[in-house]
Amino acid sequence: MGKKGKAAARERREQRRQEVTLLRAVPYEPGQRWWDGLAPERAVAVVTGANRGIGYEISRQLAHHGLHVVLASRDAARCQEAAERLLREAAAAGDASVYVEWRQLDVTDAASVEAFAAWTARTHGGIHILVNNAGVNFNRGADNSVQFADQVIETNYFGTKRMIEAMMPLFKPCPYGGRIVNVSSRLGRADGRRNRIGDASLREQLLSDDRLSEELIDGMVMKFLEQVKQDTWSSIEWPQMYTDYSVSKLAVNAYTRFVARRLLDRPEGQKIYINCFCPGWVKTAMTGWEGNISAEEGADTAVWLALLPQEQSTIGKFFAERREMNF
Ligand code: NDP
Repeated sequence: MGKKGKAAARERREQRRQEVTLLRAVPYEPGQRWWDGLAPERAVAVVTGANRGIGYEISRQLAHHGLHVVLASRDAARCQEAAERLLREAAAAGDASVYVEWRQLDVTDAASVEAFAAWTARTHGGIHILVNNAGVNFNRGADNSVQFADQVIETNYFGTKRMIEAMMPLFKPCPYGGRIVNVSSRLGRADGRRNRIGDASLREQLLSDDRLSEELIDGMVMKFLEQVKQDTWSSIEWPQMYTDYSVSKLAVNAYTRFVARRLLDRPEGQKIYINCFCPGWVKTAMTGWEGNISAEEGADTAVWLALLPQEQSTIGKFFAERREMNF
């Protein structure tokens, strides 16, 4: 892209950012607030990696919309502190209706996920919304180290998958449907203009509804990790930027589509709408606070997807700034 093209893209991005800021300020109409229809019960939303960054903001915004939010985080003390901060800030703003809880959860630890699911079932009898936000990326700027590829894939992809498998049976029957939102990234697009995987056959299989399978996705990440271990991986075959992270998010995107297909046939009252989105380049610890938008803005599309009224709900799609994008 030339200078002019870049400037035009920047301008379009800024314009959309402003539009979304305006949209976020528009209150939901009573008819759109499906979660109010559950009264006197509150809709229960679980957010992973909620102690800071985008996860904290998603939790805060959902809580202010009147949901009962469970902030989940791998460090219990940090999670408790985040929940207390959220409540303190709400009280200072005069909002006494905010209700949040916190709970330890390490998405890379099967026993922790199991304990979390058991606690949720015991305490709440189930959930309405799951936001898979927990994630790691050890690269910054022009770095492209795969030193922590195992942890990146384990957290971002297998952690998301583990949570979906554990929590799916806990979705409460609900006339408005349940929601799963996976926090992903444009870097994980299979067919984006930049940073896509070089293996055209794999790309084609990942994008084909008929050929997409759990084995294909797991096989892809395992092949990548094996190549990392053998030091034979190449950025010709895999995405060039933040390769381990991009592969993990590519897997999240593909898994979102795979699960969506399984969920399509659910009967009314047991529907679950699963989608993924890219928050943009966000000023959080992950980017060394270098992004071009705030965590509040980065959280927007997650909250929008989680609260979308059923008649507007989509399934198995990828979004950014409240707009659908190609995978
Ligand atoms: P942060 O680093 O601020 O937050 C990441 C969160 O994930 C932290 O709460 C962290 O906990 C948690 N986490 C990491 N590993 C685990 C684990 N094993 N179990 C449970 N929680 C864990 O980053 P962001 O807020 O920016 O990132 C949130 C999501 O957004 C991620 O999925 C990220 O990939 C995605 N994203 C971010 C972008 C950005 O520009 N910032 C761009 C595109 C996507 P702890 O505090 O203990 O480390």
